[in-house]
Amino acid sequence: METQRLRIAMQKSGRLSQDSQALLKSCGLKINLLEQRLIAHVENMPIDILRVRDDDIPGLVMDGVVDLGIIGENVLEEEQLRRQALGQAAEVKVLKQLDFGSCRLSLAVPREMNYTGAECLAGKRIATSYPGLLQRFFDERGLPFKSVMLGGSVEVAPRAGLADAICDLVSTGATLEANGLKEVEVIYRSKAALIQAAQPLESSKQQLIDKLMPRIQGMLQARESKYIMLHAPKERLEAITSLLPGAERPTIMQLAGDTNQVALHVVSSETLFWETMERLKALGASSILVLPIEKMME
Ligand code: ATP
Ligand code: MG
Repeated sequence: METQRLRIAMQKSGRLSQDSQALLKSCGLKINLLEQRLIAHVENMPIDILRVRDDDIPGLVMDGVVDLGIIGENVLEEEQLRRQALGQAAEVKVLKQLDFGSCRLSLAVPREMNYTGAECLAGKRIATSYPGLLQRFFDERGLPFKSVMLGGSVEVAPRAGLADAICDLVSTGATLEANGLKEVEVIYRSKAALIQAAQPLESSKQQLIDKLMPRIQGMLQARESKYIMLHAPKERLEAITSLLPGAERPTIMQLAGDTNQVALHVVSSETLFWETMERLKALGASSILVLPIEKMME
C-alpha cells in the first residue's frame, strides 16, 4: 500500500496565508501554490497542503480529516467552545504558537458612550462573529447580554441600529475609529498556532511531523535571534558581554596585530537596540555588527 501523505490545512487567502506558506517553505517544503487548487502536492516530501477558509481549519483537524493546521487561536478556541456547547469532541494538540497573526478580540462601544466597565453593557445587544468567546467573557463576570451573530461587517452594527456594542478583532483600531467606535476592553489575545489532530497518527506521518517540528522551532528561534560581532577592549569584556541580551557564552578571538582588543561573536536571543549599541560603544566596543540568522538547530 502506498504510504499516506501528511495533510496540512492552511488559509487559502487572507491574513494568515502568506505567513503560513512562508513558514512551510522555510522548513524545506517545495510548494507551488500558483494554481487555484484546493490541494497542493509538496514535491519533495509526502505532504499535501489543503487550502481552505480559516473557519474550516479547526473542524478539519478535530475530525481528523487533515493531520495538521495553521490557524488563529481565536478561531480555534471559538470552534472548541461551539463544539463543547454541543457536547461534541473538540480536542486538538497545539504543537506551537507561531510568531504571526497577532490580533485581539475587543469590545467596542459608540464613541460618545461613557463606558466605566463591562457592567455598562449588562442586558445590551452586542454584535460579534465570536459568540462563544464573548459569552465566556460575560459568563465569567456573571453579566447578562444579548448576542447578535454577524459573520462580517460587525463594525457597522451599532450605526445600523442592530446592536449597542460590538465584539470584534482589532489590530490598529482604524476600522473602529472610522465607524465612530472606541475600543474599551480586550477580551482575547491571539496569534496563529500550529495544531495537530488529537487522534494518534500512523507512524510514518508522525515521524514526518517529528522531523518538521525542530525545523519550525529553528525558524522561529532564528527569526528572533541575531548574530552579533564586535571588537572589545580586553579589560571591558565582562561589562560588554553583560549588555548583550540573552547571549550564550561568546566566542572570543584574537585580532591580528592588536593585543589590547579581541573580537567577540555571540548569538543573541533578541535584537540589539540602538540604545544598547550606543552603550556598548561608550564602553569601548567598536565595529559592532548585528546580523540576521536564517536558520538554527541546537
Ligand atoms: P476566510 O475567508 O479564510 O474565512 P477571514 O476573512 O475569516 O478569511 P482574515 O481576515 O483573513 O479571515 O483573518 C484570519 C485571521 O487572521 C484571524 O482569524 C486572526 O486570527 C488573524 N488576524 C490578524 N490580524 C487581524 C486583524 N487585524 N483583523 C482580523 N484578523 C486578524
Ligand atoms: Mg474566516
